Amino acid sequence: MAADECSIRVVCRFRPLNDSEERAGSKNVVKFPTDQDETVLISGKVYVFDKVFRSDATQEKVYNEAAKEIVKDVLSGYNGTIFAYGQTSSGKTHTMEGVLNKENEQGIIPRIVQDIFNHIYTLDSNLQFQIKVSYFEIYLDKIRDLLDVSKTNLAVHEDKNRVPYVKGVTERFVSSPEEVFETIEDGKTNRHIAVTNMNEHSSRSHSVFLINVKQENVETEKKLTGKLYLVDLAGSEKVSKTGAEGQVLDEAKNINKSLSALGNVISALADGTKSHVPYRDSKLTRILQESLGGNARTTIIICCSPASFNESETKSTLEFGKRAKCIKNSVMVNEELTAEEWKRRFEKEREKVARLKGQLSRADAELERWRRGETVTKDEQVNLLETDESLLAISSTQSMSSLASAAALTTPTVGILAASAASVAATGSVVPVLAANIEEWDKERTTLYQQLDEKDDEINNQSQLIERLKLQLTEQDEGFNQAKKDNENLQAELNRLQQESESSKEEVKEVLQALEELAVNYDQKTQELETKSKENENLGQELDAKLTSLNGIREELESLREASQAQRKRFLDMILVLLRDVGDIGSVMGGQMNEQKKPTIENLDQAEEEFTLARLYMSKLKTEARTVTGRLTDLEVEKVNHQKGIEFKDKELDESRLLIQQHEAKMRSMLETMKELEEKKRNLERTHDTINEELVKLRAHGVVIGTGGSTSDVQKELNQQMEQISGQHQKQLTTLRDEIRSKESQMEILKDTLQKLQLSYEKLTGDFDKLKKEENEKSSKLQEMTLQQERREQAKQDLKGLEETVAKELQTLHNLRKLFVQDLQARLKKSQKQPEAEEDDLGGSAAQKQKISFLENNLDQLTKVHKQLVRENADLRCELPKLEKRLKATMDRVKSLEQALKEAKESAMKDRKRYQCEVDRIKEAVRQRNLARRTNTAQIVKPIRAGQNPSTITSTPIPTIRGGDHSAEP
Ligand code: ADP
Ligand code: MG
Repeated sequence: MAADECSIRVVCRFRPLNDSEERAGSKNVVKFPTDQDETVLISGKVYVFDKVFRSDATQEKVYNEAAKEIVKDVLSGYNGTIFAYGQTSSGKTHTMEGVLNKENEQGIIPRIVQDIFNHIYTLDSNLQFQIKVSYFEIYLDKIRDLLDVSKTNLAVHEDKNRVPYVKGVTERFVSSPEEVFETIEDGKTNRHIAVTNMNEHSSRSHSVFLINVKQENVETEKKLTGKLYLVDLAGSEKVSKTGAEGQVLDEAKNINKSLSALGNVISALADGTKSHVPYRDSKLTRILQESLGGNARTTIIICCSPASFNESETKSTLEFGKRAKCIKNSVMVNEELTAEEWKRRFEKEREKVARLKGQLSRADAELERWRRGETVTKDEQVNLLETDESLLAISSTQSMSSLASAAALTTPTVGILAASAASVAATGSVVPVLAANIEEWDKERTTLYQQLDEKDDEINNQSQLIERLKLQLTEQDEGFNQAKKDNENLQAELNRLQQESESSKEEVKEVLQALEELAVNYDQKTQELETKSKENENLGQELDAKLTSLNGIREELESLREASQAQRKRFLDMILVLLRDVGDIGSVMGGQMNEQKKPTIENLDQAEEEFTLARLYMSKLKTEARTVTGRLTDLEVEKVNHQKGIEFKDKELDESRLLIQQHEAKMRSMLETMKELEEKKRNLERTHDTINEELVKLRAHGVVIGTGGSTSDVQKELNQQMEQISGQHQKQLTTLRDEIRSKESQMEILKDTLQKLQLSYEKLTGDFDKLKKEENEKSSKLQEMTLQQERREQAKQDLKGLEETVAKELQTLHNLRKLFVQDLQARLKKSQKQPEAEEDDLGGSAAQKQKISFLENNLDQLTKVHKQLVRENADLRCELPKLEKRLKATMDRVKSLEQALKEAKESAMKDRKRYQCEVDRIKEAVRQRNLARRTNTAQIVKPIRAGQNPSTITSTPIPTIRGGDHSAEP
């Protein structure tokens, strides 16, 4: 159980000049003496290491000479550390990791892993191994778990043996190299995920791969543990060189801080005089505490660039290595003793203590004697060597007693203490006060450190707790919101589904109603159909009956037809008559038709030709009629003109008559006035005569009186009077005579005019008579024409009818012509023989004709009814599949609706179930989260038995590797 002193191994590896260095024209400033591989010369300065690997050293060589040993150590219960130190791109990662899946490019880690397992397979089968790995990085003095990204700031703790470890770091149990590689890959991908610039990040962070090997001898129950740290450090270059700024600078400082802490620790350890080693300055140094000056076999690989450009950096790296080389670790096997062993050891130690106590008391007694001034003889003196041993024994006993309660053995402090105590004892200057003081200080320091740790821990715990709680809170919030949303959604969906189900229920109801209606309808229809079909049957029967009667009638018809053939002759006669009529019309219309042949039985074969001839004539007639109508219209126009002229003349005549009458009236009035005047003249003459008589009388009287004297006066007076009167008369007479004369002249003029008028009247009447005559002539002509026209019209119509009948008959005739002609000829022959029989035949044929027409009508009606019935039947038949289809469709619709309803119900149920599940899940998740807060999940241990390659054994549930029986196992 004794601790072995051992120096840290420092090897140095130079990589080849890289492209950029070559491009920059950098020269190789490193020289390697040809005869040895421990030294390197750089600008004249010699550095000596345990090994110097030149640029051409292969990965395998580096592994074999720098790392391979450590496998055995770790499997023997020692701690081991390999870390790579050097500036960025000096080949640290290349050396530590290389390319994982390329055999030649593999670095130390994969080779070690492979070797560990391979080695286990060769060991004794009683050994059972448990291997677990951790992978983390230290960035800005924060430990980030690469196997669990949620662990971003892990704390470093000391276990009961005061060995620092990363608390809470993920430990993955592995049972094969592949699993280890998988773990490394996982860690690397996690590292990449969290980082934007991987190159920069990797150059500023330390990555630590920890392999923890625990073994147990199943027979002796002896347990050994070995921890192997494989560290790829951050770039060791000075910050100024990278030209970093801001946060990058901070980072760089921090990285350099941890690296300078490493440097300080190494310096302190290399110095050997300093009692305090500043492990606590950074997490890196705390983690590497055991590896540097503690219980670990440590190898430092110094990675360097050979380029002149990096010379100073290379030099400082080499200086670092040189310093580190001075460090001495005290290594021992990490053995876990059994209770029995502990007991034995305890007994041994007790005995030792008792012995030492005895020695001490003897020494004390001797001291007393010396102090009292007595001299002690050499024989009586206590043996110093013995004392030395005892002192050592005491210190170890102390440590033992302190560790009695613990499981493992030593701590570096104890080691240092022991070392210092030993040195103190060796020099012989034992100063109990100083020792006591040192002890006190040590104690105080440890307690203080402990406190510090605790505080650190608390802070860490609290912050982590806060983080966790925050995360939990947000998660729960999210979960709650999600659940709420889900709930709402589900509620809404449920409502919708309920509504849908309601509506579908209603729809189903409606559909059912409709269905019922349809069923009723269907029943009705089927009944109707039945009745119809019955009717149909009846009708069919009727039809059959009718058909039979029809057949009978047909037979009758046949017979009648035969009879009717006899009538053809009559028909021919009719045609002949008609043709004759046409001929007559022709003769009426013009003489052209006179030459028409009369149809005879002989030329009956040419009937068609004759008909065409008749048609020709008819067309001719038509054209003639057209010209006649043209002429007629002309005549009518002329007539109208004449009538107009007559009217005009009539008017004129009337006017002249009126004038004549007027003149006559005038003449009459004039004659009357002449008569009056004559009368007046006569009256006047009479009065003249009377007056003359009176005068004579008076003269006679005067002569009597004249003999007397006064008679002369009276006579005179009378004379005067007479003269006056006669003058008046004379005047009157002359005026009258004048008047008469004027009147007479007037009369003469009037007579003249009268004569003239009479003359003109006579002339007009003559004219009138002439016109009348003309008119009469014309009207007679017109009448004739219209008569002709009418006749023509009649003829035309007749012709048309004739044409139609002819056409109709022609068809039948055409069809039956030959037969008809033959028959006719036969009949003619017969009729020639029996001319009397014709009369009876004619009468019979009329009755037969009537009967035929009646029967035909009947047949027509029957066929019509039959057709109608058939149509109705067909319609009904057509309707039936439609109705059936509709019924089917409605049935289908009902079915689909029912299905939909069912589905909706099911989906609602499902949704409800899902919702319940979701709620349960959430509840469960919350519960588990709560649980997880309380307890850490247990790790499943995968023990590996030595001597077995688990990859070859598939049936073993727990892969174990047992030494020795590797080859024995299949
Ligand atoms: P670091 O991890 O120190 O920053 P890397 O290991 O990433 O440097 O190496 C930088 C580059 O140099 C890589 O491309 C790597 O392949 C190459 N390299 C490093 N060492 C060697 C070597 N010994 N032989 C060949 N190439 C090397
Ligand atoms: Mg790297």
